[in-house]
Amino acid sequence: MIKVDDSLCIGCKSCSNVCPSQNIVRTETEKMRSIHWKRCKEECDLCVEFCPARALTLVPFDETVQEPDLSFDLVACKICGSRYASEPMLRRIEAALAADSERDSEGLEWIRVCPTCRRSREAEMASRETVLERCRRGQ
Ligand code: SF4
Ligand code: SF4
Repeated sequence: MIKVDDSLCIGCKSCSNVCPSQNIVRTETEKMRSIHWKRCKEECDLCVEFCPARALTLVPFDETVQEPDLSFDLVACKICGSRYASEPMLRRIEAALAADSERDSEGLEWIRVCPTCRRSREAEMASRETVLERCRRGQ
């Protein structure tokens, strides 16, 4: 079965995405994500392999052990305000990135922007760049 180190888990839900047996259940409300690990007898090891924080280990099955539960507050997007990721997950990504790659040309910390707003902002900047390039060429 799976043992979770709650000091390492960042609430990314990768384990739940890869589990073929629905043994890792996540629930999401508008502001919070919760993850529940059932006592698993299958030991396929996929969740352990895909956990980016190395928070999971396989241990012998023990039905007396309580099934772990963790909950994470979700962080609001700096543009639209929708909640999209856990704070530990964002901090981990920030730590892995070079400081100058975290902001766009206008100083916005892109990691603090939800994927939807990030895509529209990138599209907006790309079309602005295209227009400027055409102006420079006099087209
Ligand atoms: S060991 Fe396999 S079946 Fe068990 S919880 Fe992990 S991914 Fe799911
Ligand atoms: S993959 Fe690892 S870090 Fe992500 S939610 Fe599962 S146990 Fe936590």
